[in-house]
Amino acid sequence: MSARAISEPAGLVENAPLDRLTTIKVGGTADRLCRVESFSQAVAALAWAESRDLVVAIVGKGSNLIVADDGFRGLAVQLTGRLSSISVRGGGLWCGGGASLPRAVQRAAAAGLTGLEFGASIPGTVGGAVAMNAGAYSAELKDVIDWAVICTADGRERVRADELAMGYRSSSVGAQQIVAAVGFDLAPGDPDQIAGRLAELRGHRRATQPQGVRTFGSVFTNPPGDSAGRLLEQAGCKELRVGDARFSPVHANFIEAGSEATAADVLALMREGRRRVREAGGPTLRAEVRYLHPTEGIRAAISREGEGE
Ligand SMILES: Cc1cc2nc3c(=O)[nH]c(=O)nc-3n(C[C@H](O)[C@H](O)[C@H](O)COP(=O)(O)OP(=O)(O)OC[C@H]3O[C@@H](n4cnc5c(N)ncnc54)[C@H](O)[C@@H]3O)c2cc1C
Repeated sequence: MSARAISEPAGLVENAPLDRLTTIKVGGTADRLCRVESFSQAVAALAWAESRDLVVAIVGKGSNLIVADDGFRGLAVQLTGRLSSISVRGGGLWCGGGASLPRAVQRAAAAGLTGLEFGASIPGTVGGAVAMNAGAYSAELKDVIDWAVICTADGRERVRADELAMGYRSSSVGAQQIVAAVGFDLAPGDPDQIAGRLAELRGHRRATQPQGVRTFGSVFTNPPGDSAGRLLEQAGCKELRVGDARFSPVHANFIEAGSEATAADVLALMREGRRRVREAGGPTLRAEVRYLHPTEGIRAAISREGEGE
């Protein structure tokens, strides 16, 4: 344990509801939440948490996150201010880690920069998208980022994209690290063609995925050579319900939460979906969505067999 005396992060809020910080809108409160708006504030918050042995959970738009009904006993951190801003610099795109990815896509398009269009309907932050190596339509963040500034309790470091070990919905960004800023490597493109591509991709989303519902995107990653949606549908999971949560009638790899849904409903539904796929002779599906455990912080959801959360 560190013996450093470090002052409390500015604007620290106690008993902060986390359900409203996620797109599925279930789960309890965090004992502490702070919003950081500079690299130095990000480092200071992490150092303060470390000095008190508090687990940290970085929360972006919460679009791939399920918070435990019992909430979180550590420090939740969000990025704001300059760390959620976007600017076009020297022909490239600079984004704070808390910037909205769809806004970054829009900004790139307006500047005639191409390459990021696939992110138009991924409703996360740029930092969350790097941590998750978010992707769609055969493209992923790994293809377009140049560098990232990573903050830890010990300071900040600018790393190259190839130092982040970005794989299928994964990266080496640790749970106690903050992706505070990202530089994109985009190419000049024709603004009309970029706008056309964006309209096409958004239309495809509307036609194939549930709209206007509480969800967190894909529940499970696709196993090699197959699709989790197809396996779930084949195993009879479409519209399967636990409590007030169900697999979407539009796309079986999406969960829709009703207004009475709890995190326990969603997790039980995920386990049941995984069990049914296995029973039907399929592989053991791996959760894409992240789970905020009350004391252990963020990790893959239903990662342990038979766990009780
Ligand atoms: C309707 C819908 C459609 C979606 N479609 C797609 C899709 O096509 N492709 C896809 O890949 N995903 C998709 N998603 C999932 C989600 O949008 C992405 O995973 C996104 O990248 C998560 O970003 P976030 O800011 O919401 O992260 P959160 O959900 O808040 O967090 C996810 C993980 O990232 C970490 N994290 C967040 N911000 C930071 C940061 N600044 N520094 C370090 N770690 C951080 C968190 O600690 C957590 O481990 C979809 C979700 C929804 C709701």
